[in-house]
Amino acid sequence: MVATIPTLAGMVSAGELGFTLAHEHLIILSPGMRENWPTLYDEAAIAGQIRAKLEAARAAGVRTIIDATTVDLGRSIPLAAAGAEGTGVNVICATGFWLHPPRALALLSTDRIADLLTSDVETGIQGTGVRAGVIKVATSGRVPRGLARRMLQAAAAGQRRTAVPITTHADAGRRGGLAQLDVLEASGADLARVLVGHAGDSLDLGYVDALLGRGVLVGIDRFRPATQGMALPTVEDLVAFVAALCSAGHGSRLVLSHDATAFNDTTSQLRDFSFVPRVVLPALMKVGVSETDIRAMTIDNIRRLFDRQG
Ligand SMILES: [Zn+2]
Repeated sequence: MVATIPTLAGMVSAGELGFTLAHEHLIILSPGMRENWPTLYDEAAIAGQIRAKLEAARAAGVRTIIDATTVDLGRSIPLAAAGAEGTGVNVICATGFWLHPPRALALLSTDRIADLLTSDVETGIQGTGVRAGVIKVATSGRVPRGLARRMLQAAAAGQRRTAVPITTHADAGRRGGLAQLDVLEASGADLARVLVGHAGDSLDLGYVDALLGRGVLVGIDRFRPATQGMALPTVEDLVAFVAALCSAGHGSRLVLSHDATAFNDTTSQLRDFSFVPRVVLPALMKVGVSETDIRAMTIDNIRRLFDRQG
């Protein structure tokens, strides 16, 4: 059975995904600001900025973006759709939560939270009919506790019901992805359909090895020009890191991305979705990464993640 995946512009088959950036954001907005002070936000300008970034990505070869924006990152399907319309880039939307899940969730059972995720996947988000294609979870530190732990349990329950992939934000410096997998696995998630994100942040080969040993896909997903964003490994270091992992035979288990944002009200830094195809892939080839591994990391590995839905 061929898997079909919901996007902002309708269903696509896994084979149609093509060159995919595994972890990006069309928008990041401070929750509640736009609803309360709409005059701060020029929606036509925001949509125009999204469109420009997606058109540049498309021109550089990108066909699909997984948008990891959640409720606590200001998810707005209508705004994202207005920007993406007509660009020819498939955008797969997320349900789930980042590091600041709404406090209201504390009063809901884990099963009830899983109902919310399932509704986004099966019925649609914010009444738009656009369905989520992935479930996002995020934890900081080594071991998730309290509500963060319950978010992982709810994500696993949501995956058991809907079969969609889970994508995580994990604290590489604390090897946080490993504890995420412990909770997900104990809660019945299929780790073959889990992508652990931000795993390149600490340049820790042992951490990535340990993650791969659990059967997940691993995201080296914060390739950015040096001036853009938080203190992260340099592009040169990340290129060497990916090359080392490919030499060890792991090219079939990695995905590449920027964790960039087309519009972000929490930072004035401009970011783009074309740095990986324009700069990173040529740099990887220059240090000897094979075309087979490049194809795997940009096309095949993500396709398999969704293919497994059947
Ligand atoms: Zn992100």
